[in-house]
Amino acid sequence: MSDDLVRLDGVAKHFPVGGGFFGRTAARVKAVDGVSFGIREGQTFGLVGESGCGKSTIAMLLVKLLEPTAGRLTFEGADLARLDRGAMKDFRRRVQIVFQDPYGSLDPRQTMLKALIEPLFTLKVVADRAAAVARAERALEMVGLDREVLKRLPHELSGGQRQRLVVARALAVGPRFVILDEPTSSVDVSLQAQILSLLAELKRGQGLTYLLISHNLVVIRYMSDVVAVMYLGKIVEMASSEELFTRPLHPYTVALISAIPVPDPEASTIAALAKGDVPSPVNLPSGCRYHSRCPYAQTVCREQEPPLRELRAGHYGACHFPGVAASAVPYRPES
Ligand code: SF4
Repeated sequence: MSDDLVRLDGVAKHFPVGGGFFGRTAARVKAVDGVSFGIREGQTFGLVGESGCGKSTIAMLLVKLLEPTAGRLTFEGADLARLDRGAMKDFRRRVQIVFQDPYGSLDPRQTMLKALIEPLFTLKVVADRAAAVARAERALEMVGLDREVLKRLPHELSGGQRQRLVVARALAVGPRFVILDEPTSSVDVSLQAQILSLLAELKRGQGLTYLLISHNLVVIRYMSDVVAVMYLGKIVEMASSEELFTRPLHPYTVALISAIPVPDPEASTIAALAKGDVPSPVNLPSGCRYHSRCPYAQTVCREQEPPLRELRAGHYGACHFPGVAASAVPYRPES
């Protein structure tokens, strides 16, 4: 049996698209298409890719806001499709998600006290109001917020306070696994580092395991132990963070790393490594999904889809010519 805390095996999520006669399904968007990976206890697993690649759909599947079209998801070894009522309640407490828009995930008419204590009652974490308030105050302390924010409404908080508040709400119920979906995208650059340090500190202090979803490679590099790169519903490369950022093998990963802004105005211009836009997920390219943008594409790339395979120990890639673009990486962010 796997000792992963979280596992996805061959997971797919296809969305029907209407438009056919009599409301029939005209096409399917393959948002996630056969994804497998595991997350060990205590790890931060980074999932990176452009918007629309399927990473947020994976988050929704993992918290059961969506059901998979195919495949299996497990948490603590239990199949998420087979949780009974009791196990489901426990799962809802032990797996929490922090969405990218804290303003959108808070009720504008609800005070912060209510926002914090409501889930504690819903999930039966506490028996009475005094215990709920005490727990809410402890969670606020963990994220560095004063208890004075409890009487405020969401619009009365700054962006940074709102972000800390939603982290506190997730932590108040005592989770084991937290999904962070673009946790710094709604705050100013000056606050991003603070939020990331706080999340790293909380992980150590509370013994948490994270799935970190971001399109920002610097954030992913800073936070993650293992990184998976997604493109059009598939994982195209996966390795330890150190290995992936220093020895990337897939041309798409190389393109992403090369697109990180260079902090040196004298540095030479980066070559465009990915051509054009991401193709429509309704009409996927044949063979390798990246071939229409890949400067290294050959005939075989257009005809055969490369499987994700182990290319070096613990380093997986889905490319017919792994390493072909590696020498083009002009800048690697500092550890
Ligand atoms: Fe590029 Fe071919 Fe590799 Fe796809 S399989 S990434 S098209 S070289």
